[in-house]
Amino acid sequence: MLPEKVKIGGFTWPVVYEDNLQSLRERAGEARFIDQVIAMSKTNTSERKQEVFIHEILEIIKHLYEIKLDHDNLSRIAVVLHQIIKDNPGIFDFKEVADV
Ligand SMILES: [Zn+2]
Repeated sequence: MLPEKVKIGGFTWPVVYEDNLQSLRERAGEARFIDQVIAMSKTNTSERKQEVFIHEILEIIKHLYEIKLDHDNLSRIAVVLHQIIKDNPGIFDFKEVADV
């Protein structure tokens, strides 16, 4: 499952699902900067949707902050970030222990 929206750099990006994104445009996901929406193909598996979601977030970060990053490297970072998030559930859900 993906959230209904994600906030990036102070902007809220709704996540929408479309039937023909993959068949018409051969894309699993798409960050639409003019509409400010993340469009996702309905036909992906949930794990693939998550990875594509991370990919589109990176596309938005790259665009908003004018980061020079080629698409191959962006795709690699998306795959690895997705793995880290999946392999470390609740990574920030710890209770801080005071050093006494
Ligand atoms: Zn891309």
